Amino acid sequence: MVMDKLGDSLQGALRKLIGAGRIDENIVNEVVKDIQRALLTSDVNVKMVMEMSKRIKERSLKEAPAKGSDPREHVVKIVYEEMVAIMGQGANIELKPQTIMMVGLQGSGKTTSVAKLARFFQKKGLKVAVIGADNFRPGAYQQLKTLSEKLNIFFYGEENEKDAVGIVNRGMKEIEKYDVKIIDTAGRHALEADLIAEMEAINEAAKPDQKFLVLDAAIGQLAGQQAKAFNDAVGVTGIIITKLDGTAKGGGALSAVSETGAPIAFIGTGETPDAFEKFDTDRFISRLLGMGDLQSLLEKVQESMKETELDVDNIMKGKFTLNDMYAQLEAMNKMGPLKQVMSMLPLGSMGLGGAKLSDKDLDATSEKMKYYKVIMDSMTAAERDDPKIISAGRISRISMGSGRSSEEIRELLKYHKTMQNAFKNFAGKGGGRNMQKMMK
Ligand code: GDP
Repeated sequence: MVMDKLGDSLQGALRKLIGAGRIDENIVNEVVKDIQRALLTSDVNVKMVMEMSKRIKERSLKEAPAKGSDPREHVVKIVYEEMVAIMGQGANIELKPQTIMMVGLQGSGKTTSVAKLARFFQKKGLKVAVIGADNFRPGAYQQLKTLSEKLNIFFYGEENEKDAVGIVNRGMKEIEKYDVKIIDTAGRHALEADLIAEMEAINEAAKPDQKFLVLDAAIGQLAGQQAKAFNDAVGVTGIIITKLDGTAKGGGALSAVSETGAPIAFIGTGETPDAFEKFDTDRFISRLLGMGDLQSLLEKVQESMKETELDVDNIMKGKFTLNDMYAQLEAMNKMGPLKQVMSMLPLGSMGLGGAKLSDKDLDATSEKMKYYKVIMDSMTAAERDDPKIISAGRISRISMGSGRSSEEIRELLKYHKTMQNAFKNFAGKGGGRNMQKMMK
């Protein structure tokens, strides 16, 4: 996957969000800060990042989630929408006969992209031919000829011919019967006057339906200026961003281009002819954010919430029975390593009113959880409801029934007491209302 560094950081931020028990200003601020860091590292413009952050914060805290939707899901959706907004909508690529002129600076990946684009249309069943009119860069002729022959695409070129417009005129006649005609033009090291004049002349001669500008992703935000300059000079209908596979600045290039209003048409993701794809913003951002994985994580969290059938009213009154604890443990058991799921559950994420569990506590709990359950299975319903009635005699009976030692049973009762106190504290501090809201 291209831009996996950016993707990893953004996914980390959203995982944190999903793991949060509830959405409040603190968690939104924290997640937005992570997103900012990720985007700035990917060279997205500071002003753009700040504006986007502001919108995510405002919308997350003000907009009500759609009926029946999870508040976390709602914020993930907002982040997704805002990311799509900064990348802009992709160009409209039609699968029909057309002439395409390719422009761009030398080394941007123009010739390679001509072959990739030809292959794209060829794979869609269209008859494609290319014209090699880059007579400025030595080697461009041979490069496109070889690439085309390999891909079985018709190539027209005139080696050592100095007049690019002449090549185009003769070439267009030669390839008249082809559906898609792609013209490779010369680049320069900068957008100089003679390059502009040449592009204008070829434009006049070939009358292309599309003019695609090829930009190297490694130039980051500078892609915006280049897109604007070429657009002013010859009018650009779509942008191809190449070498997204080899740079950490992809976010900068994509967003800067989108800001100029020129749509991104394709992205280059490697050196081979197939390392090329049509740019579809929604799909691209979905993949970048790992939406599929986030969705299943969210479902897991929602499931655990549902399965944790705590008696919220009683807990608010300070009553946290062994049944409640049992329900918690059951849910956790289903979900894998305790440390990981603890943060997803109300118990872990709310800090338990000051009784935060340390990593060491959690590790110990994870090991002990299994026999805690065995012990609880040997208790009566009344004992689970009110563990205070568990006398020394009852402990012996439970010990016999479960095959666990009396110490282990006392330890479980102590663990329960800690949890119960924590909930009492939490309810006392007014957290109950939030919890109740969250459990619904
Ligand atoms: P031109 O001067 O614009 O025609 O540039 P070329 O097409 O010759 O490309 C310059 C270099 O970039 C070549 O070595 C290509 O293989 C490489 N290149 C082009 N597109 C990509 C891409 O998407 N990914 C990678 N990794 N390399 C690319």
